[in-house]
Amino acid sequence: SKDTIYNFSAGPCCLPKEVLKKAQDELLNWHDTGVSVMEMSHRSKAFKDIVAKTEKDLRELMKIPDNYQILLLQGGASTQFSSIPFNLLDDNKKMNYLVTGSWGKNAFKDAKKHGEVTEVIKPLEAYTGCPDFSEWTVDPDAKYFHFCDNETIYGVEFNNFPYEELKDQLLVCDMSSNFCSRPIDWEKYGLVYAGAQKNVGPAGVCIVIVRDDLLGKQLDSTPDVLNYKKHADSPGHCYNTPCCWSIYMAGLNITYMLEKGLDKIEEEAKLKSSMLYDYIDSSDDYYTNPVDKIFRSRMNIPFRVKKDDELEAKFLSEAAKEGLIELKGHRTVGGIRASIYNAMPVEGVQKLLDFMKKFREENP
Ligand code: PMP
Repeated sequence: SKDTIYNFSAGPCCLPKEVLKKAQDELLNWHDTGVSVMEMSHRSKAFKDIVAKTEKDLRELMKIPDNYQILLLQGGASTQFSSIPFNLLDDNKKMNYLVTGSWGKNAFKDAKKHGEVTEVIKPLEAYTGCPDFSEWTVDPDAKYFHFCDNETIYGVEFNNFPYEELKDQLLVCDMSSNFCSRPIDWEKYGLVYAGAQKNVGPAGVCIVIVRDDLLGKQLDSTPDVLNYKKHADSPGHCYNTPCCWSIYMAGLNITYMLEKGLDKIEEEAKLKSSMLYDYIDSSDDYYTNPVDKIFRSRMNIPFRVKKDDELEAKFLSEAAKEGLIELKGHRTVGGIRASIYNAMPVEGVQKLLDFMKKFREENP
């Protein structure tokens, strides 16, 4: 039955059953308004309440200080690759970009259209980690420093970011695929953004959390719809029509995560990822993950099966038959990738582990 399907998609991905159920219950008639959230005006009191509660619960869950604005925007994280330089640059159009995977690279490519970008590290041959800070080139006069905290495709996550060494830089971070999986020390960041479709909700909304003093200084050429200040100053934080349904769904999940507790979520993320890494590492190279141990992602775990394409195809088809779906690696890298976001239960990871053991026995 459907209950036994475990979805390892990298995003959009699984959401907690409780959250989907709640949306189902409220689908036709939200809180006795007689209408669905899909039918509501974004200027209605009901929808304004949804946005306000979503922001309030997110602020509590992630302990976001009052001097940071929460914006719930459209256009995905990819739109932020342009919005960030538009909003943060002024006469100083110098930027630092640290690229440790394809998302950071996409952000870097868009930034180059706006000014002078310092590549903090030399282009890597393989995305398996990041060289030591002593090898970085950082422009001390740049307006900001951009990096991606968790590279979704390669499974490379910062677990030891050199904050202290960069304390004079304005840090801007793409946390699309690990947002809400561990606490954030806000003092260290000017802006954090995350496409919702991993830990937070369905596709459609990108969460941008930006420090107040950075608003209103955008370049004259900034399109209004990308101008953070326009969104922040508009009633209900809605400059134009937002993705109402996605915001509502993200809100339900944020409330759910708040009830569960970030500590518990973080603990589970460690447990689930170490279950897989420990087994991969003990499999005598039957299964391999190429990422430097300290940079291994707790969210996305790419691995190969004997580095053999045919065996991997068999792995994927047999896994799917057992209800373990969406395990195919990103089209650019191949192999297998298990994305184990917040909504993936420990039992799902255990089932994958049992399958990996069985597959290895049957296909030595
Ligand atoms: N950054 C990261 C880390 C991502 O994983 C993704 C999407 N997988 C993006 C940015 C791009 O997000 P979107 O598709 O919402 O533009």
